Formats: sequence, C-alpha cells, structure tokens
Amino acid sequence: MIYLPYYQSDFSTTFRYLDYRIPSKNIYKYVLEGYQDTFLLKDGHSQISFNNLDPGNYELKVWGGSAEGILNPLPAKLNIRIGAPWYWNRWSIALYIFLFGTLLTTLYVFQLRRRVAISEARKIQEFQQLQSKLYTNITHEFRTPLTVISGMVEQIQIDPENWFRDGLSMIKRNARQVLSLVNQMLDLAKIESGYLRVEWVQTDLVRYIKYLMEPFIAIGRTVGVKVHFLPEINQLVMDVDTNKLQIILSNLIQNAVKFTPEGGDIYLTIEENHLVKIHECVIGVRDTGIGIKPDQVPFVFDRFFEVTGVETRASGGTGIGLTVVKEYVELLGGNIRVESFWQEGTKFTIVLPIHHNAPVKEMDGHIIFADELVDLNDAASFSETQNVIDMDQSLALIIEDHPDVQTYIASILSSDYRIITAKHGKEGMDKAIEWIPDVIISDVMMPFMDGFELTEKLKLDERTNHIPIILLTAKADHDSKLLGLLKGSDAYLSKPFDPQELKIIIQNQIHLRNSLQKQYQEQSTKGASQNHINDHFIKKVTLVLEANLDNDRFGIPELCQAIGISRTQLHRKIKALTNQSTSHFIRSFRMYKAKELLINTDMNVTEVGYAVGYLNRSHFSQDFSSVIGQPPSFYKR
Ligand code: ADP
Repeated sequence: MIYLPYYQSDFSTTFRYLDYRIPSKNIYKYVLEGYQDTFLLKDGHSQISFNNLDPGNYELKVWGGSAEGILNPLPAKLNIRIGAPWYWNRWSIALYIFLFGTLLTTLYVFQLRRRVAISEARKIQEFQQLQSKLYTNITHEFRTPLTVISGMVEQIQIDPENWFRDGLSMIKRNARQVLSLVNQMLDLAKIESGYLRVEWVQTDLVRYIKYLMEPFIAIGRTVGVKVHFLPEINQLVMDVDTNKLQIILSNLIQNAVKFTPEGGDIYLTIEENHLVKIHECVIGVRDTGIGIKPDQVPFVFDRFFEVTGVETRASGGTGIGLTVVKEYVELLGGNIRVESFWQEGTKFTIVLPIHHNAPVKEMDGHIIFADELVDLNDAASFSETQNVIDMDQSLALIIEDHPDVQTYIASILSSDYRIITAKHGKEGMDKAIEWIPDVIISDVMMPFMDGFELTEKLKLDERTNHIPIILLTAKADHDSKLLGLLKGSDAYLSKPFDPQELKIIIQNQIHLRNSLQKQYQEQSTKGASQNHINDHFIKKVTLVLEANLDNDRFGIPELCQAIGISRTQLHRKIKALTNQSTSHFIRSFRMYKAKELLINTDMNVTEVGYAVGYLNRSHFSQDFSSVIGQPPSFYKR
C-alpha cells in the first residue's frame, strides 16, 4: 500500500514482466479499480500515469504477458491511498457538520426568539393602545360632568340667588354620572382580575325586569322614544343575580335609547324555552334606531369599541358597556348575540339557563336606582326665553349636546349676550345659517355632525365664514387642538374651562370683528378700488352693485338674487361685516360713487343722479347730503 497526499494525486508508475525472451513485445493489462476500466498495453509499454485522483482508496491490478499474447492469470496488485486535504478529511467534515448543525440551531432559536419578541412587542403595543384609548375615552367622559360640577360651584358662589337650586341639582346629577363611570370601571377591573362572584337568588324574573323597565319608560318619554315591555309570560321564577342582570339590562336599554332617534321604539321581550333537554329564558332588547354597520357588528363587544362615524357620536361613551354586559351574561352561564341592520335597528338577544337552586327571594316593591336614573335624564336645559332680550347685545350660538353643559355655558354668557342654542352639529349648522350669530361656541363630539366638520362647513360657507368659532371640548389632546384650529376654528378650549377665559376669548373675537367691520365699511363705501377690499363677500356685493349702478330698479331683492342668499342672511352678513343695514350699505355705496363722478367728470347733478340710479333729483340730493354731509351742488361750483 502506498499513501500519497492529495497534492501528489498526479503520478506515474512502471512495471516489468519477467519474460526476457522478447521483452520489447511483452504485453500488459491493467486496471485501477475505483477509477477506470481495464486497459491493454502492447509492445513492451509499461508506464502508466494518473491525473487528479480524488482522495480515496484504489487498487491497481496489472497482468503481464509474453509476446505470444498470453496473459498471466495472476495480477500484480498495488493498493494506493490518496489522502484528502486537511480541510476535507473526516475530522474536518465532522466539524463542518457540527458547525452547520450549530448554525442551524442558532438560527432557529434566534428566529424563535425574534418571533416571541415581536409578538410580545405587539402585545405590549396593543395593551398600550388599549390603555391610551381607555384614558382618552374615560377622561373625556369625566371631563364633561366635571365641567358642570366645577362650573356650577362657581356660579353658585357668584350668584347664589339665581343658581342655588338649579345649580345644586345639576351638581348632584353630574356627580352621579361620575360615580356611575367609576362603577363601570370597577366592574371592568373586577372582570379583569377574575374576582367576580355570582350572588344567586331565586325570584320572579318577569316582575324584576318590569321594575327595572319603569324608569326607562319615563326616560324614553322625555326623549321621544317609546319603550315597550312585552313579556310573553306573566311569571318566570328562576335563579338570577339581580345586580348583574340590572347592569346588563340597563346598559342595553341605555344604548338603545341613546342610538334611537326621536319617534323610535324599543321593545323588551321575555320568552321561556322549555324543550326536552333545554330549559332557558330568552330576553330580547330591540330598537328601531340607527343600527350598526355590518363590518362593525363583530366588534361591539370588544373593550373600548366605539363605532366610528359622526351620526353615532351621541354624547360620547366609553366603549366599556357591552364588554361588561357580555362578561356578566357569560358569568350567569348564558350567552348574548347581536343582530343589527344599518339605519333599521339593533337587536340584542340574551339566553340564560333556568335553574332552581338558589334561596327564594321575594321582590319587595321598589328598586333603588329607578329615581336616580330619571333624575339623570331630567337635565336642565337652557330656555332661550330665559334670556332678557337686548337687541344691542351680540348674538351667541351655543352648540352642545349635553344639556347641563349647555345650560352652564349659557349661564356664563347670558348677561352679556343674546343666546340661541342647538343640541347637535346639524342643528347648529342650520341655526348658524338661519341666524348668522356674532359668535359660535361649539362642542366637538356631538351626534350627526361633530364640531370639526361643523367648523369646516361654516368656514367654507360664504354666509357664515366671518363668524368666529370657539371649540369647547373634552378632547384635550394636542392633536385634537391642532385639528380644530386647522379646520378654521378661531380658538380651542378644553373642558373643564375657566369661564373668565371663555368670556375674554369671545370678547376678543368680537372686538376683532368690530375693527374689521370699520375697515370693510370704509373700503366698500368710500370708494376703495376693488383690489383693496379684503373680504370676498363684500367684494362680490360691491361688484354686483357697481354693475347695476344706474339701474333705478335694482334694490335689495335684486341684490339677494344676484348673490344667491336670502334677504335676512344678506342683512345679517352685511351687518356683521360692516355694521350697516343692507339699504344703508347700498345707499352709501351709490353716494360715494356719485361723489366720485361729480368730482372727476363733467356730468351735472341730474346726470350723476341718473348714473347712480336716481330718477328724481331732489331725492338724490337728499340722500347725497345725508350720506356725504354736503349737497351735490357743493361739488359742482
Ligand atoms: P359606549 O359606552 O360607547 O356606549 P358600549 O360598549 O355600550 O360603549 O357600546 C359600544 C358601541 O356599540 C357604541 O359606541 C355604539 O356605537 C354601538 N352600539 C351599542 N348599542 C347600540 C345600539 N342599540 N344601536 C346602535 N349602536 C349601538
């Protein structure tokens, strides 16, 4: 056996057959097993070469033969081993396999860890989002009643005679609202901690629910929604946790009331299913309200879920209610499902198993919370007639869906302003266009149209774009503030706000308008060229007047038609911008034009009168003197 290292894998060898008769005619056959087939060598050739043999074991066999061509049957053998290079020997390969294996395992572990880390990060992020949603929702819900509480305390201090009675009941009502929010949060916390016990009693469910419903029927009446209690059975004695059932049903009915517009109906039904193996009670709460969009239905039971879309933003919400409802129903061994059709209505169905194991408890008449709820809904609402009308005062429009907050803001402003109010964005928009107030104070989160949309629309509308808008909102974060200002609001205050600050902001805004009024008045009437008139609306009016200067029939109705707004709107807008009535504005405009003509042309007084739409000379002179302070002849001497 010979051993050759891998760099000597090219080699030659010779052999000799011991037949000396004619050695030059000897023949040979050879084979390198593991490498190639047999080869025959003739005429005494006895040298062979191999190139590039792979590392491994080979056997070289050589058969010798004489000139007659007869080969010796026994070959000569030589074992050859070509060594592998150091990097490709057994140990190296074992090392490679080991390293490769380690690498794979490491990669796998790394990947696994990464995935775990990502999912953990995602969980943390989701948790943080939930948490921040919780804070925004909850703080928002707290801010509104706190605004009323802190504000009314101050009002009572300043003016106890007027505000003691109403103020106290507003404070009481809003304090209860805060308490009920706290309770809702505690319910949620109890669910999260898993520390929740069911307190079973056996009682007549139909009778209990009937009591529960009473205050809601009254609440419904106050908002124009009919609440119907339609049990299919007269009595159903079963095990139930009355407190939990109360929370479940009040949440569902409150939601139904909240999301059902005036004129709608709410039906509460109770049925008993008594089949072979099933004995259950089915409670339905159905409303004919706004419904939930199909893509949002699956999420209504999620924590902090609130349907997006302005129509449904009725007085905010925490998005906790239905989560608590579902957890409680499941705790009672039942299940809840929801069906809803957008713009048609929503139905929640609760199925509870019927058992009779708990101690029997008779319902004893009254349920404590009933009158509190009625009281809660009995919120004060500011009556516009409450206001002493002084037509010289500026007109303020308050748009706010929370009646107590509305009353509170009105109470701050009513001594200095005439006040009109609106319950939501859409009504606010209509009233703003109808009344053209001097200032608008609006909430942001409201049903039908939120404050941002309202601001944007009013600022784009020629009739209302001059009105200062102050957004007053429980959305206190920086982004909301920027958004409010971006949409064109003139100021943004977060609740609870300082009443003095609100007053000062309104005063400043109105002063700003007054100085602009003077500017517009001068620009538009005293003959400033069109290019110098800043306000788009005034520019438009003066262009129309200029084009119809000599038309004696061109009056207010024609101007309204040309501009495309109503007489009252035109009047309010011109008044707001220039502090003049429309007729005064038109007259001044014509007279200043007449003055220009008298000074700059050869036209005589009668001709100038014609040119500015006056057929009657003495009428013209009269108007001219009253506006300009001199008779027209003064300029034609
Ligand atoms: P919230 O405190 O915001 O009312 P809920 O958990 O009670 O929270 O309700 C979650 C969302 O489900 C609500 O914001 C509302 O958009 C929707 N919703 C609940 N009940 C109704 C209903 N009867 N009609 C229409 N939408 C509803």
